[in-house]
Order: sequence, then C-alpha cells, then structure tokens
Amino acid sequence: MRVPFVDLRAQYLMIRDEVHPAVDAVLSETAFIGGRRVTEFEEEFAAWVGVPHCVSVANGTDAIEIALRSLGIGRGDEVIIPANTFIATAEGVTSAGARVVFCDCEPDHYTIDVEDARRKITPRTRAIIVVHLYGHPVDMTPVMTLAMQHGLRVIEDASQAHGARYRGSRIGTFGDAATFSFYPGKNLGAYGDGGAIVCRDERQAQWARAYANHGSLIKYQHIMEGRNSRLDGIQAAVLSVKLRHIDFWNRNRRRIANRYAELLADVEGVEIPRVADWAEPVWHLYVVRVHERERIAQRMADRGVATGIHYPVALPFVDAYRYLNHTAADFPVAAAHMGELLSLPMYPELTDEQIVYTVDALRAAIEETLVVATT
Ligand SMILES: *Cc1c(COP(=O)(O)O)cnc(C)c1O
Repeated sequence: MRVPFVDLRAQYLMIRDEVHPAVDAVLSETAFIGGRRVTEFEEEFAAWVGVPHCVSVANGTDAIEIALRSLGIGRGDEVIIPANTFIATAEGVTSAGARVVFCDCEPDHYTIDVEDARRKITPRTRAIIVVHLYGHPVDMTPVMTLAMQHGLRVIEDASQAHGARYRGSRIGTFGDAATFSFYPGKNLGAYGDGGAIVCRDERQAQWARAYANHGSLIKYQHIMEGRNSRLDGIQAAVLSVKLRHIDFWNRNRRRIANRYAELLADVEGVEIPRVADWAEPVWHLYVVRVHERERIAQRMADRGVATGIHYPVALPFVDAYRYLNHTAADFPVAAAHMGELLSLPMYPELTDEQIVYTVDALRAAIEETLVVATT
C-alpha cells in the first residue's frame, strides 16, 4: 500500500462536476481579476467565519503584511510571533517594514507561549501575531488580556485553521484582523495562490482593499501608493465551490484524527497531539512526537508511507534569522521539540485502511529503531 502525505487529486475528482462549470463561467465572463466571483467569495467567506469584512489578496503572506499595514504597523515597530511557525508569518512582518521578535511556544499545542510573549514586550512592541498552528486554536483569552494590558494589536494567522473554533466561536473573530492562505494544500485551498484578510472594522477593510489594488478603490483614483496583491476570478470560483464542502472535509479530518488517537494510544514511544477542552481543531496537520525521527520517517517511507516535518528547524535558528543571534536557550520548548515533530498523512479522503496501515508502519518503524538502539 502507498499512503501519500496529501492527495489533492482525490478531492478534485470528487468536486470536478461543480468546479468545471464554475471555472467555465469565469472564462466566459473573462472576469480574470476581481469581478463578481471575487466579491461573492469574499462575502461568503466573511459570513462563514462570522466577521463583517473579507478582503481577498494574492496569498497568505501578503495577507499578513497588509493586515499589519492596515493597523498602521510598520517601520520601527516590533511584532511578536511564535518561534514554531511557517516562515510566512515572519516574512509578513518584515515586508510590512516592522521587526520580527520571536517568542517560545508552549509544549501542549506548540502554539504561542503567552508568558514568554509578555517577556518580549518593549516600548516598541505594537502587535502580537498568534498562529493557530496545525489547525489547533490558540488560547485566545490570555492573549487578548495581554494585548489589552499593553495596548497591542492582535493578528490571528489562521492559514492552518480555516473553521477551527475557540470556545464555540470560529477563529478569526478574536483579533484586530485574521489572515488566511488558500494555498492548495491548506484546509481550504485554491487551484493556485490566494489569501484573505478578515476584520470587523470597515475603514480598515477599505484601506486594505485599496492598498492591495494599487492604492485605489476606484480606477485611477490613487489615494496612496499601494501594491498589487489580488485574488483572481478563477481562484475565487474554485474557492466558492470548495467553501460548500469545507465543513464536511473538516469533520472528516476530525474523524481521522480521532482514529489515529485511538490506534496510537497503545503505541509506545509516540506522543500524540493534545486537544484542549476549549478547542475544536480542524487538523490541518496531525503532528506526533517521536525520538529518532529521521530514522522512523525513513522506515515509514520504505513501507510506502509519506510523512512531513513541521517544522524541522524553528525559525529563530534558520539561516534567514541568524542575524538575531539566538541560541537554543532562548526558546527551550521550540528547540527541544523541533527534532521530534513528525506529521502523519492527513487529508479528508484518507481511508481507514490507510490510517491503519500508517499506524502499523509507525509502530514497526519504532520497534526497529529501538532494536537498533539497544544492540
Ligand atoms: C501557509 C501559511 C501562510 C501563508 O502562506 P502563502 O503560501 O503565502 O499563502 C502563513 N502562515 C502560515 C502559518 C502558513 O502555514
């Protein structure tokens, strides 16, 4: 048997009868950039998240940059972000002209350690970006309290958590803005790049919309110098189709996560992901912790099971941030875990046979590495 890490084709085949007419309509209308389909998708997505405004952009990294700028954050400002995230979170900060300040993650869900964030606050700190990592929501109450105490803005990087809930409300409704990526592999993925900013404030949304479209809301009326960061009509049409299925797909991810948890319960040497009682995660990734990760991943690959690592090196230690001169002691939790994280195959179409096979492959790989270690 072969178990791929993700299988975008399985999902495409399921919805192709809906996707093709939707894309055909865009082609017939030649509404390639912007247009009705984009506006419709923005409205549908905002309603689904439960916020008044959605501004679509070209990708999730731009969404972070533009969300920061829409809050007046830029040059000379510091933005605190967690050490264990995809580099896009940090790139968005730098692109906005602000300075990245890393803080550690907490050991239960690998999301932001709010107490460490508190220690990183300086007079220049303007915002905190929380990342709902792997689809598990961040504990927002302490984050919002900290932000309130220090007059900081909060941005939710929701690129891995479309539809997750924190204490019953969809993530993306807590911060001053939330950002989403529609990269094909995300829970809600386009057939190309795409992204969005959601927020409650209408003027902020209008500013972001203008900024992402050459500084204009009306053609050739440039209220400022902006950028070009837009969603195209074909992607919007695909996303509108997929939005109709996302809750079903997220439920499947949850079922798969529960099945993994059940099967892995008696496998020694595997730390399975924890779910907080206030959390309704959407399982973008299913990340376990194991010793001897590289060897285990290799042995699983030998059995036809693909795995991933999210992320092999925490951001403060990648070359791009060497200039910050961090050491492992600065982020003890992120540093301790980065060598052990292993992402198992996770996508809504994963079959029970594949799940069982994956767990068997993991169990066998662990047993083999234990034998190697003790002989
Ligand atoms: C995917 C992702 C982004 C944005 O990615 P794009 O490829 O720019 O759409 C941002 N943050 C996180 C945590 C992500 O996983």
